[in-house]
Amino acid sequence: MMTLNLVVPCFDEEEVLPETGKRLLALLDQLVQREEIHPESAVTFIDDGSRDRTWSLIEGLHASDARVRGIKLSRNQGHQSALLAGLLTAPGDVLVSLDADLQDDLDAIPRMLAAYRQGAEIVFGVRSCRDTDTFFKRATAHAYYRLLQRFGVEVLPHHADFRLMSRRAIDALRDFREVNLFLRGIIPLLGFRTAVVMYERHARFAGCSKYPLPKMLALAFDGIASFSSKPLLWSTHVGAAISLLSLLIGLWALVIRLFTDMSVPGWASTVVPMYFLGGLQMLFLGVIGGYISKIYSETKQRPRFIIEEML
Ligand code: UDP
Ligand code: MG
Repeated sequence: MMTLNLVVPCFDEEEVLPETGKRLLALLDQLVQREEIHPESAVTFIDDGSRDRTWSLIEGLHASDARVRGIKLSRNQGHQSALLAGLLTAPGDVLVSLDADLQDDLDAIPRMLAAYRQGAEIVFGVRSCRDTDTFFKRATAHAYYRLLQRFGVEVLPHHADFRLMSRRAIDALRDFREVNLFLRGIIPLLGFRTAVVMYERHARFAGCSKYPLPKMLALAFDGIASFSSKPLLWSTHVGAAISLLSLLIGLWALVIRLFTDMSVPGWASTVVPMYFLGGLQMLFLGVIGGYISKIYSETKQRPRFIIEEML
C-alpha cells in the first residue's frame, strides 16, 4: 500500500490553518479506512517565513497528531521555493501538493490516486472553471497561457500547483538545479506517464491572497524567461527583415536615380546605410542573445536525460 504525503506551503495562513489541518487529516482517515493509502501517510506544512502564528499552529497540529509534520523556512522564500522544499524533503511514495487556503478541491485527491494506480506518475489538477476568480485574474490568466503557448513554453493551461507526483518523478525533479523556479513549467519536462484530473476551484476559505500583483508578475516573467529564448530569435528575425528591406530601398533609389530626374542627392547614401546597419545590429543582438541563452541554459544544469526504465 502506498504512503501519501500532502505537501502544503503556508505563508501567513493563521486564519485557515486549523481548518486545513482538520480537513486534510479527515481526508487521510477516510483514505486509510478505504485501504487506499498506508496509515503512515502524512501532511507536511511548510512555513514560508510567516510573520503571524502560522508556525506555532503547525507545532500545535504536530503535537496533537504525529501525522502532521512541519518544515520552517528561515525566511519568506516565495511559494515556488517553499513548495520545492516540501517536495524534496517530504517522505512517501506519492506526494500531492496543494494550497493551504483550501481552494484546491480535496475531492480531486482520491481521483488523482486512482490515476496513479493506473500507472500515471504525475497527475495534474486542472481547473474546470474560474468562477471564483476575479475578472482581472481570469482575463490575465487566459492571456498569459496564450502568451506562454506562443513562446513555445510547454505548460498545461489552468493547472497551477495542485498535482500528484510519484517518488520517481520527485527524484527526477531533484536533478533540476535552477533557482528561478516555475514548477509548472519544469514538471512537464520530466516526461513519464501523466494524467489530468479536472476540479472546481473553490473560493479562499479565509484570509486574503498571498500573491499580490508584483509577485504574480515576477512568477509570470520566470515562466517565460526560464523556458523560452524566442524573444531573442525575434530580434534576429526583425533585424534580418530590416536589413533586407534596406537593400530593396537601395535598389529603388537606384531605379529613381537612373530612370527619372526626381532623385534627391544624398538621400540614398544616408537613409539606406542607416536602415541596413540598424537591422544588422538587431540581427547580431539576436545572435549574441542566442549565445547568452545557451550560457543561461548551461548554468541551469538541467539533467540531460531522465531514464524511465531499464531492462
Ligand atoms: N504562499 C507561500 N509563500 C508566499 C506566498 C504564498 O508559501 O510567499 C502559499 C500560500 O500560503 C498558499 C499558496 O502559496 O498556500 C498559494 O497562495 P495564495 O492562495 O495566496 O495565492 P492565490 O490563490 O491567491 O493565487
Ligand atoms: Mg489561493
